[in-house]
Amino acid sequence: MPYDALGNRPNRTRVLFVSSEIYPLAKSGGLADVSGALPRFIAAAGEIDIILMLPGYPTALELLENQVSLLRLQDLPGGDATLILGDLPGSDLRVLVVDNPDLFYRPGLYTDENGLDWPDNAIRFAALCHAACRVAIGDAVPHWRADVVHCNDWHTGLIPMLLAAHPCPRPKTVMTIHNLAFQGNFPGAFLDELALPAGQYSSENLEFYGNLSFLKSGILHADSLTTVSPSYAEEILGDEFGMGFEGVLRARQSDLVGILNGIDTDAWNPGQDCLIPARYGIDHMAGKARCKASLQADWGLAVDPDATLIIFLARLELQKMADCLIDILPELMSRPKLQLAVLGAGTPEIEAALADWPRRATGRVAVHIGYDEELAHQLIAAGDILLHGSRFEPCGLTPLYALRYGTIPIVNQVGGLRDTTIGATAETLDAGIANAVHFVERSSAAMLAAVDQAVALRADSGTWHRLQSAAMAADFSWHKPAAAYGKIYEGLVVPRQFAPV
Ligand code: ADP
Repeated sequence: MPYDALGNRPNRTRVLFVSSEIYPLAKSGGLADVSGALPRFIAAAGEIDIILMLPGYPTALELLENQVSLLRLQDLPGGDATLILGDLPGSDLRVLVVDNPDLFYRPGLYTDENGLDWPDNAIRFAALCHAACRVAIGDAVPHWRADVVHCNDWHTGLIPMLLAAHPCPRPKTVMTIHNLAFQGNFPGAFLDELALPAGQYSSENLEFYGNLSFLKSGILHADSLTTVSPSYAEEILGDEFGMGFEGVLRARQSDLVGILNGIDTDAWNPGQDCLIPARYGIDHMAGKARCKASLQADWGLAVDPDATLIIFLARLELQKMADCLIDILPELMSRPKLQLAVLGAGTPEIEAALADWPRRATGRVAVHIGYDEELAHQLIAAGDILLHGSRFEPCGLTPLYALRYGTIPIVNQVGGLRDTTIGATAETLDAGIANAVHFVERSSAAMLAAVDQAVALRADSGTWHRLQSAAMAADFSWHKPAAAYGKIYEGLVVPRQFAPV
C-alpha cells in the first residue's frame, strides 16, 4: 500500500494525539504513561494513523529517534518554533516536537526547582496548542491533516476552541481529562499574548472565576469528552469532586464518557522486567523475595523476609494523602517488624518531614526524594504492600502496577480505584476475588486501620497468596480502552465522510 510523505496509508482515520508529557520522552506522572502507551494500542487496534505531539523539552529532544526538522512555525505565542519529526523510542510511532528553546529548555516540565509554576506557562502551552492546530488543519506538514485531534488535560485545552473557529470541514476534537485538579487557570492579563479569536473572555467561554481557564475552554469546545475511569466520570459531575467544573461538565454530560486507563503490560511485567533484580510470576514467587531482600539491602533496611515491607510511591502531595502518611509514621513504627520505603517528590514541607525518618528509625524507614523510573520498578517488585491514599483519584496507575507485581495495594474507595480494586472482606476473600485493602474515610486514622488490616491478612500465608493470585491475574491491558477510543474517533469522523457534498 502506498505511503505519503509522513508514512500514512490513505483511507485511514488520521489522529493527532497532543500531550504535554509522553513516556519516555518526558514524564511527571500518569499522563506520560498513558500518552506513551495508549496511541500504540490505538494504532494497532484499528484503521488509524496516529501522530503524537509534545513540547520540545531537553529530554524529548535528547531521546527522540531519527529526527528531521520539518519547518519553521512562525508567530506562535512566545515566538517562532521549529517543528521536528522523529520516532518514539521503543515503538514505530511518529512524534512531532515543538522546539522553542526559550519556552521549553528548562529543568522542570511545569515548575522550577522550588516547585513554583513557570510564570509563562500560559504562553508555553498556548504555543503548543497553536502549533497543533496548524498541523491539524494541514498548514504545517506536507500532505497531512488530521481527522481528529486528541487533546489531553489543560495544556491542550485551547485546541478545541481554536479549531472550532476554523471553517468547516475541520478536524474533530476529543478532550481527555486526566486530572481535574490541574486546570490551567491564568490571570486575564495573559489574553493578549495567547493569539485567541476575539470575544472569548466571557463566562460562557474562557472565563473561570475571574481567571482564564485552558481546561474550561477545552471542556466547552471539544466534540467529545472523556476521562480516565467510569467512576471518576460520575464523581466529577458533583460538588465534592467537580473542583468548580461540575456545572460546566453537567452541561456536557451527554458527551462525556469514562474509559478506564490500561497499563503497558510489557513494560510492567514481573516475568520479564529487566529493571528488577529477579523475575517472577504467581507460580514462582521466589524472585519477588529476592527483589525484596535486594531492596532492603540497597536502601539500608534490615534484610528480613518476615518484615512487612510497605512501599509509598507517589507525588508527595495532599492528593496522595502524603500528609496522612507523616501523621501515622510514629504509630507505624510502634508495630513490630514493619518497614517503610518511600520514593517520591513534591511539596517541600512533606519532603522535609520525611527526610529525618531514616535516621529516627534506622533500618526500618528508607526515603528517596526524587523521581526515578528504575527505582519505581524495583520498589514495586520488592514491596509486600503499596500504601496509596487518595483524596481523589481519576484512575490511579500505581496501584495497577502494584497489582501486577503481587504487591497488595491499600487504597481508598474513590475514583478509578473503585473500578480496579476489590477490597478484602470475608465474602470477597472467600470468593477469591479480593485484590486490595480498602479504606473509606479519607483520614489518617482510617489509613492506619487499613495498614493494620493488611498486616493481619499477611500473617496468614494462604490468605495472602490468594490475594496475590487475584491481584496478579487482573487484566488491565490497553486493548479494551484502545478499542473504546477508536470507536469515539470513528463516531466523530463518520458523519463527515458520509455527509452530502
Ligand atoms: P498521578 O498521575 O496522579 O501522579 P498515577 O498513579 O496515575 O498518579 O501515575 C503516577 C506515575 O508516576 C506512575 O507511573 C508512578 O510509578 C510514577 N511515579 C510517581 N512518583 C514517582 C517517582 N518519584 N519516581 C518514579 N516514578 C514515579
